[in-house]
Amino acid sequence: MKLFAVCPKCKNEISFNSIHKTRVEFAMNDGETKTLNCKICEYKNTFKINELYAKESKIAQIIAGLIFFIGTPFLLFYAKTILIKMGTLKLTLIIGSFMLIPALIYKTILKEDRIRVNTFNRGRLKNQ
Ligand SMILES: [Zn+2]
Repeated sequence: MKLFAVCPKCKNEISFNSIHKTRVEFAMNDGETKTLNCKICEYKNTFKINELYAKESKIAQIIAGLIFFIGTPFLLFYAKTILIKMGTLKLTLIIGSFMLIPALIYKTILKEDRIRVNTFNRGRLKNQ
């Protein structure tokens, strides 16, 4: 996932990719500091692991949004066709619950992403 740190010199946010889900895991595998070059001022920074942080993913938000905003009208379109053909109350209820699927996927993606961010940001190294 993407992790971030703020350059102390120019306050630019530096990002990099990491496979580690927590700070402890990061420190155990990659050491207790991370050296990053600022892309703006080219200053070479050494960050403590506690200074690194995760943010909610824009990609996750976009995917969740797409599923919701494309999935719902898509289902509505097919529901209308089926209803015109068969039209019963029971069927309406079944289709109604199918309508909730894009909304549920949307909520789940955003929730999972929030959990990922919180897991990283809450767990701090004690000796830093
Ligand atoms: Zn900088």
